[in-house]
Amino acid sequence: MNYFNTMERENTYRHILKWGDKREEEVGYHMADLIKAKFGLTDNDFREKYLPGLETVTLEKPSLLKPRQLEFLSDVCGSENILTDDLSRARYSCGKFYGELLDLRLKHVPDPPDAVVSPRSHDEVVKIIGFCNEEKIAIIPAGGQSSVTGALRAPHGGIALDLTKYLNRILKINSVNKTVTVEAGIFGPALEEELNRHGYSCGHFPQSFEYSTVGGWISARGAGQASTGYGKIEDMVVALKAVTPAGVIETRDFPRTAQGWDIFRLFAGAEGTLGVLTEATLHIFNHAPLNTTSAAFIFRSFGQAVEAMRTVMQSEYGKPHLFRISDPSETDVAFTTSGFDGTLADKVLQMLGFRRGNCCLMFVAVEGEKAYARFVLKKIKKTARAGKGMFIGSGPVRKWLAQRYSSAYMRDPLMDLGIMTDTLETAVTWENLMQVWQAAHDYVNRRPKAFLMIHISHVYENGANLYFTFLSPMERGNEQQDFIQFHRGLVDTIVENGGSISHHHGVGRALAPWMEGHLGKNSIDLMQAVKRHLDPNNIMNPGGTLGLK
Ligand SMILES: Cc1cc2nc3c(=O)[nH]c(=O)nc-3n(C[C@H](O)[C@H](O)[C@H](O)COP(=O)(O)OP(=O)(O)OC[C@H]3O[C@@H](n4cnc5c(N)ncnc54)[C@H](O)[C@@H]3O)c2cc1C
Repeated sequence: MNYFNTMERENTYRHILKWGDKREEEVGYHMADLIKAKFGLTDNDFREKYLPGLETVTLEKPSLLKPRQLEFLSDVCGSENILTDDLSRARYSCGKFYGELLDLRLKHVPDPPDAVVSPRSHDEVVKIIGFCNEEKIAIIPAGGQSSVTGALRAPHGGIALDLTKYLNRILKINSVNKTVTVEAGIFGPALEEELNRHGYSCGHFPQSFEYSTVGGWISARGAGQASTGYGKIEDMVVALKAVTPAGVIETRDFPRTAQGWDIFRLFAGAEGTLGVLTEATLHIFNHAPLNTTSAAFIFRSFGQAVEAMRTVMQSEYGKPHLFRISDPSETDVAFTTSGFDGTLADKVLQMLGFRRGNCCLMFVAVEGEKAYARFVLKKIKKTARAGKGMFIGSGPVRKWLAQRYSSAYMRDPLMDLGIMTDTLETAVTWENLMQVWQAAHDYVNRRPKAFLMIHISHVYENGANLYFTFLSPMERGNEQQDFIQFHRGLVDTIVENGGSISHHHGVGRALAPWMEGHLGKNSIDLMQAVKRHLDPNNIMNPGGTLGLK
C-alpha cells in the first residue's frame, strides 16, 4: 500500500494524528531488530499497519452553535476564520496524548468543538470572550496542539480558539532590557530564527519545539532541553497580557517587585482555564553556539551517575545548560539503535566494567561566554571523574543535539506496529529519585513484554525530573481500556513513591484525577476560587482540566 499517496488525502484520521510535518517515518534497521526481539514481532508484523486511521473523518456530533452566534463570530473575525466542517472540528478536538491518538486510529472523536475560530487581533479575542461569556459558550485556547495531557478536548463543545493563524508576530525585541515581546501564537522556530538574526536565543527548546507556541509553553508550564541552564518557561516570563471573562489582565515588565503576588504566575500552568494569553514578554539570551562546549560520560551504574549529577548541581561553580542521564535501559537502546553493539569500542567498555544493563550515559553541554563555558565544563569533567565516570568525547552530544527533535516522529510507526508507546514525567527530590526510578521499573516489569526507559533531563540543586518512556504491545480489541489501566498504575506508582504529577507536560484531563489528592483540598479550593473570579461562567477550557470543576 502506498502510504505516501494516502497522506495526500488531508481528510483522514491519520492526517490529524501524525506528528509534525506528516512525513511517514520508517522504523530503522537496528530499531526493527530490537523491537522484534523485545516484543516477539516478526517481519509479517512490519508489512501491515495496525489501525492506520486511513478513513475519512466524519463526526457524529453536529455543531451546536446557533446561526446568530456564528453570525456574531463571523462579524468579529470574518467568515473565512470560522470553521465548522467535520475535519476542522476533529483536528481541534485533541492534542497528541496517546489516548487521543488511539481514539483517532479507532475513528473516534469524542469531544469536538462546535467551531474553530481564528481571531486576528487581541481586540477580537476580547470581543469573542465577552460574547461567549454572555452566551455561556466554552472556549478552548489552542496553540500548536502538542499537548500530551488531553488539555485540548472540548467535552462541553464550544469553540477552539486558534491563536496561531494571526496572533503570531514578534512585537518587540528590546536589546536594552534583553527581552522579547511576542503574540502568544508564535511557533518556536519563527521566534528563534528572528532572535538569532539579532544575536539572541529564546533558550526554550522542548522536544516539540517545531510545533508548539509561546502561549502553549507558558500555559502548560513547559521545560526545554536546556532548562538546567536557562530555567523553565515560568522563569523566562517577564510579563504577559491575558484576556479573561472578567476582563483584560496586563502585567508589567519590572525585573522583580514586592507588590503582593506576581499575578502573571497565575497564568503559567493555567492550561487555558483562566483566559487567553495574547502577548508575552520573555527574557532572551545571547546566541553564541560556537562557544558551546560539550562532553559525554559513561558510568558503571545509574546511582553513580546520579550522584555525580547531584554533585555538579550543588558545587556552585556554574551549571550546564543541557544535562542528561539515560538510565541503563535507555542507554542500552541508544547503543543498539546506533549500531554500537559488538564494535571494538563496545568490547573495550565491557572490559572496563561498563556492563550493558548497568552502565549509563551522561550528556553535558555548557553555553554562554567562551571562558565561562570552558571553565564549567572543566569542573564538570573533574566531578565526573571523581564520581567514577569516564569521558567518552563530545561526539555523542553533538550527534544528539543534531537530531534532538527527531525521536518525536517515532511514535507513529511504533503505533503502526500495534505497540503502545507513551511518556510520563515527574519532578523528584534527590532523596526520592532512586526510589521512584526503581518503583517505576518494578511496576512496568510486571507487565509481560512491557519495556521502560527513563532519563533525567531537567536538573536543579535539590532534585531533578524523571522522564519515562514506556512501550508494550497493545491489547488488541481492548486498546483504550488496557492503556488507561496501565497508565493509571504507573502514575499511582510515581506519586506514591514521592514524585510529582508532572514536571513539564502539565496536567490536562489525563492527570486531573490526581490533583486534589496530590495538592490537598485547600490548594484545589484556592485554585477553584481564582477560576471562579476570573471565569464565573466556567467557559474557559471547562470539563476537568487541572482537576477544576
Ligand atoms: C513529541 C512531543 C514532545 C514534547 N516535548 C516536550 C518537552 O520537551 N517539554 C515540554 O515542556 N513539553 C513537551 N511536550 C508537550 C507540549 O509540547 C508542551 O506542553 C507545549 O508547551 C504545548 O504548546 P502548544 O503550543 O502545542 O500548546 P497546546 O497543546 O495547543 O495547548 C496546551 C495547553 O495550553 C493552552 N493554551 C495554548 N495556548 C494558549 C494561550 N495562548 N492562552 C491560554 N491558553 C493556551 C491550551 O488550552 C492547552 O490547555 C511535548 C509534546 C510532544 C507531542
